[in-house]
Amino acid sequence: MTEQNNAQVIIIGGGPAGVSAALYLARAGVRTTIIENGPGALARAHKIDNYYGIAASGARLYAAGLEQAEALGVSIRQDEVLSVEYTDSFTLSLKTTAEQLSAPALILATGTKNITLNLPGLVQLEGKGISYCAVCDGFFFRKKQVAVLGSGAYALHEAAYLRHLAQSVTILTNGQSGEAAQSAGFDVKEAKLVQLNGDSRLTSISFDDGSTLDVDGLFIAMGTADSTDIARKLGAQTNGRFIKIDADGKTNIPGLFAAGDCTGGLLQVSKAVHEGAQAGLAALNFIRNKQVF
Ligand SMILES: Cc1cc2nc3c(=O)[nH]c(=O)nc-3n(C[C@H](O)[C@H](O)[C@H](O)COP(=O)(O)OP(=O)(O)OC[C@H]3O[C@@H](n4cnc5c(N)ncnc54)[C@H](O)[C@@H]3O)c2cc1C
Repeated sequence: MTEQNNAQVIIIGGGPAGVSAALYLARAGVRTTIIENGPGALARAHKIDNYYGIAASGARLYAAGLEQAEALGVSIRQDEVLSVEYTDSFTLSLKTTAEQLSAPALILATGTKNITLNLPGLVQLEGKGISYCAVCDGFFFRKKQVAVLGSGAYALHEAAYLRHLAQSVTILTNGQSGEAAQSAGFDVKEAKLVQLNGDSRLTSISFDDGSTLDVDGLFIAMGTADSTDIARKLGAQTNGRFIKIDADGKTNIPGLFAAGDCTGGLLQVSKAVHEGAQAGLAALNFIRNKQVF
């Protein structure tokens, strides 16, 4: 796929929301990059026949959307975004390269993570030792024993951050292979989690092999970093697992926009396309006002 440096706007997500935003930006002459990690919710839809003028498989719509954006000059890059930092622009760390990408405006359109974890104790202990954000909460676990739940690159990224703060970091793969985590030098436990223990705070985790691990903190980093994880780390307001936006798709952080399933409400293609268009136009106004050329 095409490469383009010096993007004015980066969009994370190549589903209906991200592509719709990209179409409005590219047609306004804005240098736009989409970073996406393969099919999201759309490609899992067997058939979409409730979107205006279309009756097609989700996979076909997904491929057609990316082709349409690319034909308009949008740069599309297949990679997983692990984290985003903000100084005077948004800087993205990617899974497959040490190279970082930056742009003055960022649109989050990663859909929602469909990972649910029904663990006894989880809901009761959220905020009492259980966290979803190493950068946000790692400070509270200095010199303490923490675990990271997850087996992918995102979990390793969170664990690497915590390694500099905590006394010990154990990666819990919940039945998945722990090879990658072991190669990265972490203590690993592959058994499945059965319960989180503690009254006022998390104290230990029980596993299906009968063992227990004493911990002060558990960081949940399953699957990939989704928009809400990224938004939270940047200080954007969220509402549970969704990002708060205004009617134009703006978050409370200047230059940061969000669209699609990651903002909640109607989780449908029509709403994702609408919000993507609005976020694209809001990002266009932002860079024009900032005079980013
Ligand atoms: C089985 C099923 C059936 C459905 N049927 C219908 C239907 O009939 N009609 C309808 O209107 N809607 C339907 N939907 C819902 C519809 O698919 C979603 O509402 C829509 O796809 C949301 O678009 P989105 O762009 O917000 O997210 P998605 O389509 O989920 O796209 C997310 C994008 O973000 C990327 N991404 C995520 N994390 C990262 C990361 N860390 N780094 C880089 N890229 C990342 C993914 O690669 C993907 O490109 C269905 C959904 C499912 C699962």
